[in-house]
Amino acid sequence: MSALPRTADIVIIGAGAIGSSTAYHLGRRGVRDVVVLERETIGSGSTSKAAGGIRVQFSTRVEIEFSLRGMAFWKRFEDEMGVPCDFRQEGYLFVITREEDLARYRKNVALQQGMGCDVRIIAPDDARAIVPGLIVDDVLAAVWGPMDGYASPNDVVQAYAARARDRGVRFFEETPVTGIELDGRRVRAVTTPAGTIQTRLVVNAAGPQAPLVGKMVGLDLPVDPRRRHIFVTDTFDEVKHPMPLVTDTGSGFYCRSEQGAILMSPGDIGAHTEYEASVDWSALEPTVEKAMKRLPVLEHAQVRHAWAGVRPLTPDGRGILDRAPGIEGLYLAIGFCGHGFQHSPVAGEMVAGELTTGCASLDLTDLRLGRFA
Ligand SMILES: Cc1cc2nc3c(=O)[nH]c(=O)nc-3n(C[C@H](O)[C@H](O)[C@H](O)COP(=O)(O)OP(=O)(O)OC[C@H]3O[C@@H](n4cnc5c(N)ncnc54)[C@H](O)[C@@H]3O)c2cc1C
Repeated sequence: MSALPRTADIVIIGAGAIGSSTAYHLGRRGVRDVVVLERETIGSGSTSKAAGGIRVQFSTRVEIEFSLRGMAFWKRFEDEMGVPCDFRQEGYLFVITREEDLARYRKNVALQQGMGCDVRIIAPDDARAIVPGLIVDDVLAAVWGPMDGYASPNDVVQAYAARARDRGVRFFEETPVTGIELDGRRVRAVTTPAGTIQTRLVVNAAGPQAPLVGKMVGLDLPVDPRRRHIFVTDTFDEVKHPMPLVTDTGSGFYCRSEQGAILMSPGDIGAHTEYEASVDWSALEPTVEKAMKRLPVLEHAQVRHAWAGVRPLTPDGRGILDRAPGIEGLYLAIGFCGHGFQHSPVAGEMVAGELTTGCASLDLTDLRLGRFA
């Protein structure tokens, strides 16, 4: 590996989906002197743990814009990036059992439809026609999004990094940032065990660890780490494949086809926040309980393997794209919760736009840090 440079125009902390996409978009804009510092390996953080889910179903205009622009990107991914990313539009089905959820979904669906998304509220029996065997006795309605689907997070993040490198961006793995030096309230350098890089512009894209990077300059950032589990079964042919991503909104359980097997998650279990990303096998029991309640045939599926990862959660479930308050030269691209993979193409585009031209091409008001003030 080449030695760390002594200076850089822009240093990005973190080579997950958000940091690597930002690097790619800066490279596309002709910004050459960009360095990405990654404490482990490219994509090894939350990004490699994501289920790859991609949906247009969001509750704010800006997030739906991110999804729609993202959809166009996933469709042209191979042409633009030179490698495939296994994008599949197999749909998202949200199953709704509570009146208050239905009211919220109706409002969101109206917004999504108004912006051109193919999203429909359907009757319980229609949901069961899409997913045979689905229990709908207690279901009020479902929301069907046939545009939605998934792609491979690892293929995507590696492609961002490869195409960024083609444009001169340098990535340094196993290089943790241990400090950010300031001149007064202005960024002067970042420090690592391998040396110091003088720079005037730093992007905090450290995912769940973003608050730890914030603390380096005395910032308290509203991002909490929360572990989530995924379980994958053996090949299972007792469901109709491809099965869309089915979310039981009452329990948080979700599942979908994964190459002839079933990928499933219990959703959030336990309340405390943590950086721990190892598998806690006691999470399997509530997963199976939730699965049986909604799709009993899953009782016959054998869980083959599991993984867990940490999601960077914010209090309102939306990401943060903003300049750090009171610290000149520090940009925050953090807190993308459970949708940072799918919104990474546009998040990176927005950050690169703001850093190079001073403004983004979308109205980012709803993603600014000031909303928590
Ligand atoms: C189980 C699970 C399922 C998910 N499913 C989906 C899904 O279906 N769809 C979806 O869109 N999203 C999903 N997500 C969320 C998604 O994974 C995250 O929102 C996204 O990966 C965040 O990307 P990031 O680049 O911000 O963070 P990360 O991928 O965590 O990248 C941050 C990087 O910063 C590095 N870093 C941290 N501190 C430092 C430091 N001091 N110096 C240098 N480097 C540092 C880390 O090592 C890491 O590689 C899921 C997450 C989990 C855990």
